[in-house]
Amino acid sequence: MATVEQTVRQTVDIFDKCRRFTAAHEMMERGLYPYFQPIQESHDTEVVIRGETKIMVGSNNYLGLTHHPYVLEKARDALARYGTGNTGSRFLNGTLDLHEELEHRLAALMGAEAALVFSTGYQTNLGIIGGLVTRGALVVQDRLNHACLLDGAQLAAGELARYQHGDMGALRRVLERHRDSNGVLIATDGVFSMEGNIVDLPSLVDIKDEYGARLLVDDAHSVGVLGRNGGGTAEHYGLQDRVDLTMITFSKSFASIGGAAAGPADVIHYLKHHSRPLIFSASMPGSAVATVLACLDVMEQEPQRREQLWKNADYLRGGLNALGFDTVGSETPIIPVASGDMEKTFIFWRALFDMGVFTNPVLPPAVPENSCRLRTSVMATHTTEQLDRVLDAFGTVGRQLGIVGGAA
Ligand code: PMP
Repeated sequence: MATVEQTVRQTVDIFDKCRRFTAAHEMMERGLYPYFQPIQESHDTEVVIRGETKIMVGSNNYLGLTHHPYVLEKARDALARYGTGNTGSRFLNGTLDLHEELEHRLAALMGAEAALVFSTGYQTNLGIIGGLVTRGALVVQDRLNHACLLDGAQLAAGELARYQHGDMGALRRVLERHRDSNGVLIATDGVFSMEGNIVDLPSLVDIKDEYGARLLVDDAHSVGVLGRNGGGTAEHYGLQDRVDLTMITFSKSFASIGGAAAGPADVIHYLKHHSRPLIFSASMPGSAVATVLACLDVMEQEPQRREQLWKNADYLRGGLNALGFDTVGSETPIIPVASGDMEKTFIFWRALFDMGVFTNPVLPPAVPENSCRLRTSVMATHTTEQLDRVLDAFGTVGRQLGIVGGAA
């Protein structure tokens, strides 16, 4: 045992950095802090915060299914049948017949041999990349990929390389440099979550075949949104047989929480036995799984929801562009609005909030430096009247702040 003299006291307290972290306090004092707003009630396109109703244009509830009567009924039935939680991982006591039913439904939707349900979308990416990108292997990623694809790479034993957003020449150069890797996985968002643009999948599938790599597409914002049946990016391009693995989340179009990997049966079987976020974490509760199954039913029975989603997206984006806003290349229901520096972004956010519009401010590191934006996203259930109110608020505040022209 160490004596008092032998003990070397740490000079740095691990908590020191927490005391130095004052940026958020300053914003709170100025009434500009936008995060962790507690929602008291949610009615799909409207939420109540501190007793005030706001139009929600910051949600990923694309098809507007969180309050659909059929979805609610299915969730309630499952709650009664399976209880509130599974209290264990898929690997041990936490697999329900419903998880397997969902896996079959998802595999069919994605045109894949098999699927595997995880507890969150985040864990799904960690699980796929951590399971496959072993020592000596390489994962190559678009620089604007979602944080959990990056985190998955950092957790994995293999190497990470990144290429400039959408730059296929840069991707080729990375692949040339790593020709001796012990296997290569290219990972990309299908729809980029902070930009709202769609990946150039036709080029990616050609390149990955040319170099003998495998391709993972994160379809968090694409399933339910893109493709004739809502099958996501690959269905949108008619390339379902050329994508090796797809990652899906249930926290967006599927009005729930959880995620899944879809791909070849042998890869899914391998991930079931090598994916730590799957094996060492409790499984999705039955009510959450039943919600996703019910959403799949609604997607099939009410395809007009997806049509309405796209009409609403075009309406809001067109309106914002007509007002003079830069929507950062959006081509989907994710519609970011360029907002200048951090301070202006917070002031912009607060003014919209006071006018009854809930948006999400996005700052570095989620987006490149000097590229702050207010991120809006549209639901199938927004009414034209609600979208007009959103546009009115954006126009008024944008003019006041000098972000767009015209009299304030
Ligand atoms: N991938 C992308 C592209 C995302 O936008 C998100 C969530 N915003 C995730 C993965 C993580 O999904 P989840 O929130 O379901 O864990």
